[in-house]
Amino acid sequence: MFRPFIIPVFLPHSGCPHRCIFCNQTAITGYTEKFPGRHDLLKTISRFLQHKGKNRGKTEISFYGGNFLGLSWQQIQLCLDAATSFVEKNKVDGIRFSTRPETICPQILRRIAAYPITTIEIGVQSMIDSVLELSNRGHSAADARQAMALLKKTEYQTGIQMMVGLPGDTRHGSLFTAMEIAALAPDFVRIYPTLVIKGSPLAQWYQTGRYHPLTLEDCVSRVKRLYQIFTAFHITVIRMGLQATEGLSSESVLAGPYHPALGHMVLSEIMKDLAVKKISYLAPDVSEVVLRVHPKNYSRMQGLNRKNISELKETFRLSRIHLLADDAIPVSDVAVALL
Ligand code: SF4
Repeated sequence: MFRPFIIPVFLPHSGCPHRCIFCNQTAITGYTEKFPGRHDLLKTISRFLQHKGKNRGKTEISFYGGNFLGLSWQQIQLCLDAATSFVEKNKVDGIRFSTRPETICPQILRRIAAYPITTIEIGVQSMIDSVLELSNRGHSAADARQAMALLKKTEYQTGIQMMVGLPGDTRHGSLFTAMEIAALAPDFVRIYPTLVIKGSPLAQWYQTGRYHPLTLEDCVSRVKRLYQIFTAFHITVIRMGLQATEGLSSESVLAGPYHPALGHMVLSEIMKDLAVKKISYLAPDVSEVVLRVHPKNYSRMQGLNRKNISELKETFRLSRIHLLADDAIPVSDVAVALL
């Protein structure tokens, strides 16, 4: 299946009723806070379209980085009209956007129904009210349930974004949030770590010792459990970790579990757990094993800098591990054999 081609249009903090504690979209996206006019929108979209290579799936224009349905109706129309002009010329297949849960209501859904929108993502972040309050989100878990109930009556694809490591959040809290989100049955989820971004209110909390971010290790372990919960419910996890945009670098991040390959690290851990389980069934005195994985999992099985291979060798006192790619092995499995 071909990967979709997404044209991102960043609207940093546009339509936001206030600033959430962890957020500084200007640092995240590298864009300024000026709202674009029609000419800017058409230019941005046209420029991105030029980069569409061959063998790409459907093309969508995506409005990100703010609270789309919190914009004035004039601004919403401006964006949707500009994007629709590309759909009408068959250059783009549809439009998607992210918005806050409390902005979804029957009236707005009626107003946007005429546009070729395919996907709506809502930023839920947590399903625990005390965590939402500490993060200054300004909405409740009930708002997220209500929004999804309304979206489920439509034809839109739905996505939910959640975060781990928010102030007041715990491992148990993250798992609870994942279970609650799974019960809402979105088509996909994104899982973001809480990072201390320069210029965000959380940066002040961090500097005064009021907030302690997750370590990278804790974050990977927590996101791994969430990934397993969502996949058990057949919900696709389309992203783990913050998008490594030009604007987000170690310079924008003051502290927290930032790693450009967080998703890869999570999937590598899952592969390692599978291998540990399988190798532990072998006799204790084996010295060489063959691991066969689907080609998609080859580098995941190795881990970053072959970390998994070194750890497996050490744990099981193996002298050698032969790792082979084999497309007969299911993506969710590892086959282990003696040499
Ligand atoms: S997290 Fe979303 S709603 Fe909150 S300030 Fe940032 S862009 Fe706005």
